[in-house]
Amino acid sequence: MLDAEVEARPWDEQLADDADRYRTQVAYLFERSAFYREKLAAAGFSSAEAAGDLRDIARLPLTEKSELRATCTPENPIGAHLCAAPSEIVRIYSTSGTTGTPSYVPLTGGDLENWVTGSARSYAASGVAAGQRIVSTYNAGPFVAGAALAAFDRIGLCHIPVGTGNTERLMRAVERLAPEAAVLTPSYAAHLVEWAAERDVDLRGSSVERVLVAGEPGGGEPAFRSKLEEGWGARVTEAMGIGDIGVSLWGECEQQDGMHLGARGFVHAELIEPETGAALELDEGAAGELVLTHLRHRAAPLLRFRTHDHVQVRTTPCRCGRTGPRVRCIGRTDDMLIVRGVNIFPSAVRDVVGAFAPEVSGRILLKPQAEGVKQDPPLPVSVELARGATDDPLLAQAIRERIRDVLVVQTHVELVPWGSLRRSEYKSKLVER
Ligand SMILES: [Zn+2]
Repeated sequence: MLDAEVEARPWDEQLADDADRYRTQVAYLFERSAFYREKLAAAGFSSAEAAGDLRDIARLPLTEKSELRATCTPENPIGAHLCAAPSEIVRIYSTSGTTGTPSYVPLTGGDLENWVTGSARSYAASGVAAGQRIVSTYNAGPFVAGAALAAFDRIGLCHIPVGTGNTERLMRAVERLAPEAAVLTPSYAAHLVEWAAERDVDLRGSSVERVLVAGEPGGGEPAFRSKLEEGWGARVTEAMGIGDIGVSLWGECEQQDGMHLGARGFVHAELIEPETGAALELDEGAAGELVLTHLRHRAAPLLRFRTHDHVQVRTTPCRCGRTGPRVRCIGRTDDMLIVRGVNIFPSAVRDVVGAFAPEVSGRILLKPQAEGVKQDPPLPVSVELARGATDDPLLAQAIRERIRDVLVVQTHVELVPWGSLRRSEYKSKLVER
């Protein structure tokens, strides 16, 4: 562990500390945040005292990204949640968002320090250690991923950035510089397995022993993960963050049973029922949308921020010794479909279909017919065949039946030839409307 005293301390001690920090953070919001003064007053909380303690947090309103965006003006392009003076801000990242218009994420020196600390704990959980080499494939540019890269220096790794979209350069760096680890999106990791197979490149025999995936859900899906592990001959662990709150907040350890909160002490996690916003307990097996609150942020702290990440919670003790609840991300709530009352995530479909390897490539595409979330069965699903495999009605039927048994949803499975679904060197699209 990078920081065993923090990472292994009893979780109730952590929560007691977090409660103190939370009180200070809420007082700071009332003092400095025009956005939260107004929002909380409108919800009937006119002072920090009225807002109560950490155990009362679920009484406070949730924050949506769109609310922050709505307060941006030419005079204040960051938004009314900006609390720090310009002289305190040392970095401004952009998030691309779904609408295409970037929004800005400012950080003070202390905020940036906390981001890097949390991110370093999350990545170190995967087992990478000082003195090893790690090759990264993110074009961090304006995006928060840049702060994750700083975590590699913090761990003491030798960082080899090669950027996105140049597979030849990446493979040359792996071959010549022999890194022990690679960090990339799960989609790109999968793409490289195919890329290597097509060229008879021995990816399994490379120096890479650990593949750290982040940037989109999927790295924790059992069938998808085992395909990556087999292709790379490496252990695959995942990390997750959200731009407005922090980069790589969560990171999986070598037990591969959900991500630990590397940003403990900086961020408080809650779970809600996505349709109603009702608070859910972080109990073993609970599933819902992750909601995050800053505990010691200065530049633009957020309270009960909806991540739109749908997660499953694990609370059983982890053999690595880290304490606290762990999460596995099932998908974005924005990608969720409801077919006759049943919630379905594209990544869950991919995982069921992936078990049909080697007949299938593992790539799928959902093609919902109706606008919006609610869909009538059967839900059309394109399933890509493996290289050289031919269309087989019995295979399509077997996949359809397995999806029905596991996910309780009726689908129409269309088998499509190998190579017909789009490959990505960044993030995959699993839904097409
Ligand atoms: Zn663990």
